[in-house]
Amino acid sequence: MTGTVEIRNIVKRFGKVEAVRDVSFMLPEGETVALVGHNGAGKTTLMKLMLGLIRPTSGHIKVLGEDPAAGEFAARRRLGYLPENVSFNASLTGYETLAFYARLKREPAKSVATLLDRVGLTPAADRRVGTYSKGMRQRLGLAQALLGEPRVLLLDEPTTGLDPALRLSFYEIVEELRGRGATLLLSSHALTELEERAGRVIIMNHGIKVADGTLDELRRIARLPTRIRLKVTDAGLANVPNWLGPVDGWRQVNGHMVEIDAAPERKIEVLRRATDEGAPVEDLDVMPPTLDELYAHFLLSQETAR
Ligand code: ATP
Repeated sequence: MTGTVEIRNIVKRFGKVEAVRDVSFMLPEGETVALVGHNGAGKTTLMKLMLGLIRPTSGHIKVLGEDPAAGEFAARRRLGYLPENVSFNASLTGYETLAFYARLKREPAKSVATLLDRVGLTPAADRRVGTYSKGMRQRLGLAQALLGEPRVLLLDEPTTGLDPALRLSFYEIVEELRGRGATLLLSSHALTELEERAGRVIIMNHGIKVADGTLDELRRIARLPTRIRLKVTDAGLANVPNWLGPVDGWRQVNGHMVEIDAAPERKIEVLRRATDEGAPVEDLDVMPPTLDELYAHFLLSQETAR
């Protein structure tokens, strides 16, 4: 299987700092992949390597079939990049800014107005960027990244500082592109947000890839308990072990709920008992491990293995 991005045994050192340590992965077409990790984990470095802005110390990278570090990297025109700290010339208008980037990417000027419209900036197109709010600058950054209908979109912490409505429209826009087959790599610290967006998650820790898979795969590997919350009648609360059976680690919450951390192999049994005819359960919620919890788990297991 080939991918739009292939990274094999990449090492990147900056002097004594080993920013990326022997990392390999492949990004296929039409997939949204979340790149997560603490500050300094190596996420931005990986994106810069894919863009050909820096060269690997060792290892191989192919982006759209080409080596980004080679002099002639024609595929760069098919890449979109939204840097972590997007900054523009404050004295240019939104339109002039995007027209400048369009010329760099050799894109027709007519795409500028279309893209400004797509990110909702048409009313502010003739205003100087210096007067833009953070959210407007971020939207202009996205329009810049979307120039030329990129096949690979690298978004470095794209939603920082965006209000919930803008965040939603931001994801709608990139999802549209993914639907047309683009590869999306999103780095972010907003794990709850990524949980709903990313088909796959790559977790980095100190330059090492510590986990890589869909949320379901990571849940299977981590074997973290699923939280089951039962709304129970007063009579049921008085004799929980009688109807729930010998379940370790249940607790009473909010006065009328029973919460259980069910190990993967006990989950079905707990649910069966809770939904059994005669069980004093009025309602239930099943909460699988969140990305936050998985992230903490994989980081901890790598730290203890070191
Ligand atoms: P954040 O979440 O804070 O953006 P990150 O995961 O993107 O972090 P990187 O920016 O990739 O992290 O940095 C990885 C490591 O490499 C850090 O220790 C950083 O200080 C170091 N580093 C990155 N670029 C350089 C550089 N040009 N020169 C020296 N060290 C660098």
